[in-house]
Amino acid sequence: MTRSQARDESMAAPEASSRNPDPGAPLFGQLTIVGVGLIGGSLALSAREAGAVESVVGVARSAATRETALSMRLVDRMAEDVAAGVREADLVVLAVPVHEIVRLLPEVAALTRGTTLVTDVGSVKGPILAVGDTAFPDGRFVAGHPIAGREQSGPVAARADLFRGSNWIFTPGDRTRPEAVERVARLCRAVGARTLQMEAAWHDDVFATVSHLPHLVAYALMDAVLGTTRGGERIRFSAGGLRDFTRVAGSDPVMWRDIFLMNREPLLRVLDEYQRALDRLAAAIRNGDGDTLYGRLLQARAAREELSHRS
Ligand code: NAP
Repeated sequence: MTRSQARDESMAAPEASSRNPDPGAPLFGQLTIVGVGLIGGSLALSAREAGAVESVVGVARSAATRETALSMRLVDRMAEDVAAGVREADLVVLAVPVHEIVRLLPEVAALTRGTTLVTDVGSVKGPILAVGDTAFPDGRFVAGHPIAGREQSGPVAARADLFRGSNWIFTPGDRTRPEAVERVARLCRAVGARTLQMEAAWHDDVFATVSHLPHLVAYALMDAVLGTTRGGERIRFSAGGLRDFTRVAGSDPVMWRDIFLMNREPLLRVLDEYQRALDRLAAAIRNGDGDTLYGRLLQARAAREELSHRS
């Protein structure tokens, strides 16, 4: 696959060997989700509603998460630790922050049987795939990333329709078994997502640009405004501009700290590009160069309009 190619699997006819022999039957027996928050909880809920799995077991560190997940009927049962949750699983989904996914992969490999498939939902793929490929030399780890989300986190934020109409990207490595990808992808399609494949490095480059940079800039902008003289007072006067622009700075700081650190090189590259764009605008303002300023704004607005038409 070349850099620019992203294979859309939901558009392609499934290969004969991977067709579901009984379309009404559950795709997996026990689905275990480690990290029953926004993404894990939404997958639990939607998979149950779609009848795509026989049962869902959740794993959470805190008693509060376990209680909420049970009371919201996201899962059939909750386990207190990873070992108890994954041993009997047919599919394990790691839906915790990205550094925790990396830490858990070897542990889950040792705890599960050879027929258990393992996937993750982490927003950075290269480092996770590298650890996953080593931990699962038999190719049963499938690196994945659902392109769906919101600013709220935890099990209370879970929604059965979160993945409907969204993309779910897989970044298989050299060892990943194609039939493992297809089985996991079928579950993602059952909860309403379109499934695609990309190279992990290209994925991390693209999402550094279209997701990680905007989040970083939103956090930085709030930081900068707060850092001005009487910043708190200024914020009280803010209207739609600051509010709309910084919406994503309402996201979970632990999750984003981990994503920024794990996708360091691609993020720093695109951050340099962003700084150059700011410098160009600052120079035009400093020099009173209205033509340059206007030209840049016009070009940016055209790109933004195209984005609006596509969404
Ligand atoms: P979330 O709502 O905060 O859920 C994560 C869950 O994992 C929490 O409920 C928490 O429950 C558990 N957890 C948190 N930190 C942990 C740690 N250090 N060790 C073990 N368990 C921990 O987060 P999320 O938005 O679902 O994100 C989960 C994953 O999905 C991340 O890898 C993220 O990159 C990826 N993702 C997020 C989005 C998005 O827009 N939010 C989109 C696509 C992919 P307990 O503490 O009770 O165990």
